[in-house]
Amino acid sequence: MNIPMLDLSEQYLELKNDILKTLDEVMTSSRFILGDHVKKLEADVASLVNADFGVGVGNGSDALHISLQACGVTSGDEVITTPFTFFATAGAIVRAGATPVFVDIDPVTFNLDPLKVEGAITKRTKAIIPVHIYGQSADMDPIIEIAKKHHLYIIEDAAQAIGAKYKSKMIGELGHTACFSFFPTKNLGGYGDGGMVVTKDEDLAEKMKVIRVHGSKPKYYHHVLGYNSRLDEMQAAILNVKLPRLSEWNSLRREKASLYTELLEPLKEFISTPVEAEGNYHVFHQYTLRVKKRNELQQYLKDQGIATMIYYPVPLHLQPVFRDLGYQEGDFPEAEKASKEAISLPMFPELKPEQQQYVVEKISRFYNRA
Ligand SMILES: *Cc1c(COP(=O)(O)O)cnc(C)c1O
Repeated sequence: MNIPMLDLSEQYLELKNDILKTLDEVMTSSRFILGDHVKKLEADVASLVNADFGVGVGNGSDALHISLQACGVTSGDEVITTPFTFFATAGAIVRAGATPVFVDIDPVTFNLDPLKVEGAITKRTKAIIPVHIYGQSADMDPIIEIAKKHHLYIIEDAAQAIGAKYKSKMIGELGHTACFSFFPTKNLGGYGDGGMVVTKDEDLAEKMKVIRVHGSKPKYYHHVLGYNSRLDEMQAAILNVKLPRLSEWNSLRREKASLYTELLEPLKEFISTPVEAEGNYHVFHQYTLRVKKRNELQQYLKDQGIATMIYYPVPLHLQPVFRDLGYQEGDFPEAEKASKEAISLPMFPELKPEQQQYVVEKISRFYNRA
């Protein structure tokens, strides 16, 4: 049996007629940039997450960068975030001219540890970027409290967590802005790059809409330095077909996650399964274990036709490109440990129980338990 990390083909077959129809409409209309499909998706995503404004942008990385810029983050400023995330989180901070300040993670959820945030605040701190890693919300209440106390912006990196909840609030309504990615592999993925920022703040929304069109307002008059980063009309048209299905897909992911956890129960000695923190609605962008002998397990599964991924093998404070920040090994022991132990199993809404059984059978065999 060959089991990929993610298989988008079945979903496409199901949606094919609607997608081809909407793409045909876009091409027939000849309206390719910031048309009605982008407007509709902006309104619908904002409404889904209880925000008031959506700003469609080129990708999730730009969503972060544009958020930072709109919040006035600039050179000399510091932004607190987690070292255990995709590169783009910190990349956006540096692109905005600011300095990422990392704090360690909570080993249970892999998310920013709120207890460590306050100690990292200096006079230069402007914002905090909590990342809802793997589809589970960071512990937002204490983070919001700290941000209020120190007058900091919160920019949620929600690239992996569209549809997730924190204590009955939607991910996306908790920060000053929240950033989504529509990269094809995300829970709501387009057929190319795409992203969106949502906010309840009209002033921030307006700034971000100007930044994504070269800072142009009125047209051809530039008061701020923007660039070209718009959500493509064709991607928006596709995403409008997919968005109504998101909550169903997320609940299917949750079902797959429960089955994995149940099947893996006898392997507790070797494996820790994901923990959904109380009050969280995890949308399992990834189903990520902590395991013993991680790299050997990955190779073994690969030989059995099972794809797995390591998110993330190198925490950001140890990335060569960030050497000048001056961090060293040992600075964030939990993030470093996670980068050596984490492994993500195949996860997508169409994954079959037989496939999951096969995956777990092979994992059991690896640990000589079957
Ligand atoms: C995917 C991702 C991004 C970047 O999104 P792109 O659309 O690929 O630019 C940012 N942060 C996290 C945590 C992500 O997973």
